[in-house]
Amino acid sequence: MENCLFCKILAGEIPSAKVYEDDAVYAFRDIHPQAPTHILVIPKKHIASMAEIDQASDADLSACLRAIRTIAENEKLESGYRVVSNCGPDACQSVPHLHFHILGGRKLSDTMV
Ligand code: AMP
Repeated sequence: MENCLFCKILAGEIPSAKVYEDDAVYAFRDIHPQAPTHILVIPKKHIASMAEIDQASDADLSACLRAIRTIAENEKLESGYRVVSNCGPDACQSVPHLHFHILGGRKLSDTMV
């Protein structure tokens, strides 16, 4: 998708710190980390947000979730982590390509918002 920041990262046009890749999924470190471990997991197929997941295959969606678990294990987040997907303006989604934040490496706030 033209002008999509994460599609440009996928295409190698913008550098990223890759932590995981398979046929359906790419994951890289967030450029402005909110926790000691802050990783973004994206489907390779462009989907704008959770609101459009009808356009994604079940295989691609489950690949994202399985990648999250694998990455958490690789990153040694044994004591826990949070998975967040911001959807739309009220959630302050800033990049319109579906992504899951993995946050961990410290005790996180017990409030979600
Ligand atoms: P969201 O606000 O949920 O849409 O999350 C977008 C995330 O992308 C933010 O946490 C940004 O810090 C992150 N981000 C923006 N540009 C880059 C980049 N070039 N490389 C890595 N992460 C980025």
